[in-house]
Amino acid sequence: MGNFWGSSILLLFALAAISPHCVVSFQLYRREVFFHSTVTAQFTSAKQLSPFIAASPILLKAASADEKGDNDPVASDHSYDYDLAIIGGGPVGVQAAIVAAGRAKKRVVLIDAPRASGKLMNEETNEDLSIGGPTGLFSKALRDAAKRIKVPTLRGMGLREDSIWNEITSACVELASYSARDAKRQLEYVGVTLIDGYAKFEDSGGSHRLTVSHDDGTAATTTTTISADKVLIATGSRPFRPAHIPFDGVRVFESDSINGLNYLPKSVVITGSGIVAIEFAKIFSNLGCDDVTLLIRDDSPRRALMKIGLDRDIAATLVADLIRSGITIERGCEVGTIEVPSSSASAANNFAAPLTISLKARGGAHDRPQNFVQELKADAYIAAVGRLANTNRLNLEAAGVEVDEYGGILIDSCLKAKGPADGNVYGAGDVLGRPFLASTGVAQGVATVNNMFPSLPCLDDGIPDDASTSSGSPCIEKNDDGEPFGIEDDLLNNAAKCDPTTLAANPFAFPVGVWSSPEAAYYGLSMTQAKEMGIDAGEGIALYAECLRGLVFSPNGLLKLVFQKSTGRVVGVHICGEDACELIHYGMELVKTRRTIADVANCMYTAVTYHEMYRIAAQSCMDPKRARKSRAEAGKALAKRRRNTKKS
Ligand SMILES: Cc1cc2nc3c(=O)[nH]c(=O)nc-3n(C[C@H](O)[C@H](O)[C@H](O)COP(=O)(O)OP(=O)(O)OC[C@H]3O[C@@H](n4cnc5c(N)ncnc54)[C@H](O)[C@@H]3O)c2cc1C
Repeated sequence: MGNFWGSSILLLFALAAISPHCVVSFQLYRREVFFHSTVTAQFTSAKQLSPFIAASPILLKAASADEKGDNDPVASDHSYDYDLAIIGGGPVGVQAAIVAAGRAKKRVVLIDAPRASGKLMNEETNEDLSIGGPTGLFSKALRDAAKRIKVPTLRGMGLREDSIWNEITSACVELASYSARDAKRQLEYVGVTLIDGYAKFEDSGGSHRLTVSHDDGTAATTTTTISADKVLIATGSRPFRPAHIPFDGVRVFESDSINGLNYLPKSVVITGSGIVAIEFAKIFSNLGCDDVTLLIRDDSPRRALMKIGLDRDIAATLVADLIRSGITIERGCEVGTIEVPSSSASAANNFAAPLTISLKARGGAHDRPQNFVQELKADAYIAAVGRLANTNRLNLEAAGVEVDEYGGILIDSCLKAKGPADGNVYGAGDVLGRPFLASTGVAQGVATVNNMFPSLPCLDDGIPDDASTSSGSPCIEKNDDGEPFGIEDDLLNNAAKCDPTTLAANPFAFPVGVWSSPEAAYYGLSMTQAKEMGIDAGEGIALYAECLRGLVFSPNGLLKLVFQKSTGRVVGVHICGEDACELIHYGMELVKTRRTIADVANCMYTAVTYHEMYRIAAQSCMDPKRARKSRAEAGKALAKRRRNTKKS
């Protein structure tokens, strides 16, 4: 499974680099983003169709493909409109649709309501700029805009704040547009019918019938009904909004409404210790924000990151980077109250009146100690305190679908929703709950389609994969010898807590990429997990500053290999630093193909590449004493360089 964020963002920049003439012109009005392009022309000829699908150029292609017989459904039940209806056009829904329509040749309808999740929209053409993109697309776009646009330089040149912000937003919209159009092109290519609307199960319609409304489901203007043999719920998640926080989408945001930010704040306070909070802290710091404060409940930011699955040294590297970047971390606290000044104190007058944020001790039972910060002033506030499954308005009762206490869909080991008598409803992605990661969701989405249509042809030759059907369980991937695929079979058997079928808790199911800056990525086991599983494991570390490329271009970060002592096999790879989300895939192959640290230490790597860190880390596994000395030397040299840079 490729890394979703990596492929989409690189593709976008490759496109941007090679096609400067494709760039559309952007204009910003108030909070909304408008742009003009030729895309609107394609929409007009679909008017004879229903109001929902009339706006979809994709339907036109799908219909004509059917007429030509190109879209050849295998064993379709024609008593339904579609073989598969997918609710939700995030990365999970889109990837699942592409596999079901492209490889399984099913008649697939994808229903997406971008406005349901505060995603990026083109208000003028009503174009969804985020279809197929993750909920965090805006943060990725901002991150990359911050890399390209040097705000302090623009300020130094005397550019107005709103012009700088326009520059940043244009870069974000450009990136989102490329992503959305690429997703639509892929859907169109395989003949998926795309409907812009809000779907829910029809009252008394059982688990095969959906009502689709053209608005966000609150005051339906027009509705239509769709029937489908199978239904995949991929409606993602929404941010948790603590009741005492006065969210207004102008100065007080959560991780979705931040998409509507329409100015560049000079000071930001963010609550949260997960990847979303850390991402935004670094983004605003890189965008030239003078004052960024992170509020965390835990006393240790490193421990907080380890709780979400990061290796301890990777977590420490991220925290060290936050501190080096001048971001303040207030520990053991949470927000008491937020005072929002009147609307006249807006960005237009440089936030003459800031937000006043009072802090209280974790749990809120008592005040913070006297010598601790009690109150903060800031232009903007973001709460990144968790997410909830988006199931509250799907009318799941009509289909009999069961949910957990947080609204997450309950599934069996084949990702089939518990409850519906016909067993035809599935769930994948954020809608299942934790870990709320794109790669997890995409892996689940594809696995779901494999489970729905077990005779799915292989990618390479179109021959049905007998290995997966003959076992009677299409849920577990098998290799050519009919054995469970990869290293996980023997290792995971030791670990009751790992669930290899639902994928979420399986450390070997897919690489995890965190698009913070610096990036973090991992695959396989951490030392802690290995210990919990009773594996006698060791580790070896290479610093970015130990390889020439790292030393020159990006010295902050590390790569760690975890290996099984008895066999020398690499069982986990953890990286934090430049290109970590790319580098992880080589590490994944080492784990999957059961390579040993000796293999890696003896492998030749092209000079001058980051991959040389793999060799250095493997050598460090073999000779830890010498490696410690080498790291200490590299660390000293780096510190000296930083001192010299500061002086000059
Ligand atoms: C700020 C931020 C940063 C992140 N960073 C990372 C990262 O670095 N790495 C990582 O792996 N993950 C990251 N994530 C998580 C990642 O974005 C999600 O895991 C991923 O988007 C989930 O995909 P999904 O398809 O399940 O849901 P979503 O992307 O949420 O898509 C669901 C879609 O369903 C639509 N929908 C909802 N209800 C209905 C309905 N009733 N009818 C029709 N459509 C509906 C929504 O409008 C939306 O378009 C980040 C998330 C955020 C918010």
